[in-house]
Amino acid sequence: MTSEQIVQHCRDVLELLPREALALAREKHPDIGGFGVFPVYAPLEIIHAAGLMPVGLFGAGDKVEISHADSRFQSFICSIAKSTLELFLRDEMDDFVGAVFSSICDVARNLSSLVQRNTPALYIEYLHLPQNMASAGSLDYTTAEFTRFRTNLASHLEREITDEAIGKSLVLYNKVRSLTRDLYGHRKHKPSSIDASDLYTVVQAGTRMMPEDFIPLLEQLLADMKTRKVHPRDGVKVVIEGSFCEQPPVGLIDVVEAAGCLVKDDDMVVGWRLFHEDIVANGDPVGAMAQAYLTGSVYTSVRHDRDNPRTVGLMNRMKNSGAEAVIFAPAKFCEPALLDYVLFRQKLDEADVPHLKVEFEEKMWTFEASRTELETFAESMLFD
Ligand code: SF4
Repeated sequence: MTSEQIVQHCRDVLELLPREALALAREKHPDIGGFGVFPVYAPLEIIHAAGLMPVGLFGAGDKVEISHADSRFQSFICSIAKSTLELFLRDEMDDFVGAVFSSICDVARNLSSLVQRNTPALYIEYLHLPQNMASAGSLDYTTAEFTRFRTNLASHLEREITDEAIGKSLVLYNKVRSLTRDLYGHRKHKPSSIDASDLYTVVQAGTRMMPEDFIPLLEQLLADMKTRKVHPRDGVKVVIEGSFCEQPPVGLIDVVEAAGCLVKDDDMVVGWRLFHEDIVANGDPVGAMAQAYLTGSVYTSVRHDRDNPRTVGLMNRMKNSGAEAVIFAPAKFCEPALLDYVLFRQKLDEADVPHLKVEFEEKMWTFEASRTELETFAESMLFD
């Protein structure tokens, strides 16, 4: 496939509902089951080693009407929580073995309970990820939590999940993450070599594929990017920051670029590309994953890292990518992201870094208001 075909294939995959993505993967892997992974992070390797395909649950975009979920939630809530619940209530997830949620915010916690109560046939797990990354007990705690997930999943499936199988899955996901890092690294130096919206599309579509099928696509894309002749273009060098679970519509990222911004780095779909480097199993893959979560993860707002404040992380992300401005793209009603924005804004104002906040929601039909704001922002910097 050419790069264009890969990106188009990924766009098509993102148009599918989770059960349709699972059905597509089953054409090649007839025996696999599906397991939903609500963002931001879960140990995918344990799921894959159990003979399941981890499928990112990033809501339903504009593909389902919310008719049942509204009655279970208050009105001021992020779209991803509503549309994810709607998928379960409409029996759209019945082909799945279950799903895992984690401790991101109260909304995600409530969502997990609501899904569990309303879909008793599915195995729903909630991971209590550590809030303190540096205490003496953090490693034991995280290992125990991942082990609990492994044991419960194995017991539900009535099938062992061996260290050997987890080790093999780790090799595959290491490869996915390392190729993704390479793509991001290349884009950082040559932002014109791939559109930010295309890279984002590919990375998100990868959360709906078996890693063994995704790896060849990433390899081909990277090889094409390295040899592609590009004409550098002028623009405001930005990082996009602020996504928690809900991810911006691809159309919004198109608008960011069309308005004159060059995206040097971003934190989109960060849970699926969380680590700085490969995780080495060393005979204890679950322990290695726990260790990597605590000490080998990239800076992100969604990890509670007292020793490395996220404001410092953002400044480093800017410096390392050579960006000169920040676009905050939080989901509407995402309280954690909006609270973070206050901290970030203060830090950026102190450092005299230009920034702009552009909120989004799943059912955005038009981006005209955002386009005008972004164009004004970019022009004010380009012609300053
Ligand atoms: S998008 Fe924000 S508010 Fe919604 S579940 Fe995620 S962290 Fe919570």
